[in-house]
Amino acid sequence: MPFDQILINNNWAAPASNDTIAMVSPSDGKEIARIARGGAEDVDRAVRAARRAFEGAWGQMPALERGRLLSRLGHAILDHVDELTLLEAKDTGKPLKQARADIINTARYFEFYGGAADKIHGDTIPFLDGYTVMVLREPRGVTGHIIPWNYPAQMFGRTLGPSLAAGNAAVLKPAEEACLSCIRLTEIALEVGFPPGTINLVTGYGEEAGAALSSHPGIDFLSFTGSPEVGTLVQKAAAEHHVPCVLELGGKSPQIVFDDADRRPAIETIVSAITQNAGQTCSAGSRVLVQRSIYDGFIGELAGRFSSVRVGPHGADLDCGPVISAVQRDRVRGFLDRARADGIPVLAEGNIAPDAPDGGYYVKPTLFGPVPLKNSLACEEVFGPVLSAIPFDDEADAIRIANGTDFGLVAGIWTSDGGRQLRLARAIRAGQVFVNGYGAGGGIELPFGGFKKSGHGREKGFEAMREFTVAKTVVLRHG
Ligand code: NAD
Repeated sequence: MPFDQILINNNWAAPASNDTIAMVSPSDGKEIARIARGGAEDVDRAVRAARRAFEGAWGQMPALERGRLLSRLGHAILDHVDELTLLEAKDTGKPLKQARADIINTARYFEFYGGAADKIHGDTIPFLDGYTVMVLREPRGVTGHIIPWNYPAQMFGRTLGPSLAAGNAAVLKPAEEACLSCIRLTEIALEVGFPPGTINLVTGYGEEAGAALSSHPGIDFLSFTGSPEVGTLVQKAAAEHHVPCVLELGGKSPQIVFDDADRRPAIETIVSAITQNAGQTCSAGSRVLVQRSIYDGFIGELAGRFSSVRVGPHGADLDCGPVISAVQRDRVRGFLDRARADGIPVLAEGNIAPDAPDGGYYVKPTLFGPVPLKNSLACEEVFGPVLSAIPFDDEADAIRIANGTDFGLVAGIWTSDGGRQLRLARAIRAGQVFVNGYGAGGGIELPFGGFKKSGHGREKGFEAMREFTVAKTVVLRHG
């Protein structure tokens, strides 16, 4: 299919700029497609089309039928799983097995929210004698969605699923680094029968199409996932029109290993939670906090496992692919170089396959430790396969270090002491806490989101549907 068009009101067309942006595969740096360079004029038309859909056929569609359309989209995605897997892998560089899991999760979002569409109920409230009070949950209206490049297909499902299920009409601006699966998914959505204007897609640069969407006065709600810096810009633009938003901005998530932890599963999980998607996961477990009494032994075993990680192009289907772009590779290398210059010991490195194409954006997964708490490796999001080991003394110390960054997205606790599991789960300021495990593998049903600089609002599960709806109180005085 041609990827160089935008979709407004169910019509594919060139953007006003008539310009395109090259998409390259991170596996070899070669161009694989061109996407449309949408801008303010296109966004404006898309928002107007969404408004008409919201006030028209889509907005009037019963929840049951909305849900059916979403479920149908989920099934259609499964019917195209091979094609979408290859597209996602080429576009992002991620290993095929991971791309496949991502596509299956994308389908799952639409299955879940298809089923949820008619299950968001309002409330009744006991009030004064002679009154009946209802709280209705209504859709927000037109929702804007700005998503990143790390999981394009999953983000498509995660952000559009709950919004559409709640009855909103949407305008999506995916990332210019990787969005081919989003374009194809939009085409599949049309095939299953979403009415014109329900889903509108404007590709383009963040400063152009993204900025136009976040500042558009016709938007009722914004959903953004990406960097904290851009999250601030989006929130400021939204504030101009008093538009609420949900922001998911990454993390510096800790894995906390106590001396009574079951080591084997901990080590496997800790390695995969930082190398999955080449570490470009907002919920990557990028700090491993290890109790001092077992630090040397545990880190020795972890380093052994870490050094077996293999990196290569998406088609080789190894543990880890390239990072998304030359910019991201240089950003990650900057962290590695600074850490070395700061004298932080390298404990282990993974291996880049000898036949990995020269033009690809490969970085060696690297385990550093012990990393001083004030070092940038211990507090900034690298967004690459870089793990920082940090020792701690006791529970209080673990909690202090775990909570000691500006972020608070996810945490993992490894201990067999039940009381400690709960004490830590309660004390850690993160949107998700895993005990003796880590990562939700999609976790469509599980509310997800940040504390502090990791953002606010919740995605996934029924929580996301609450975000995409608004309460309206109806007070009846009947005597
Ligand atoms: P980004 O925040 O620049 O991009 C995310 C999305 O925002 C993209 O669709 C982009 O086009 C759009 N955007 C960019 N500028 C915009 C603007 N002025 N107004 C509106 N939208 C705009 O992220 P990035 O540059 O792709 O990555 C930079 C860093 O962000 C990464 O290294 C990583 O640390 C972090 N990041 C986090 C996540 C996450 O899932 N939390 C995802 C991607 C990147």
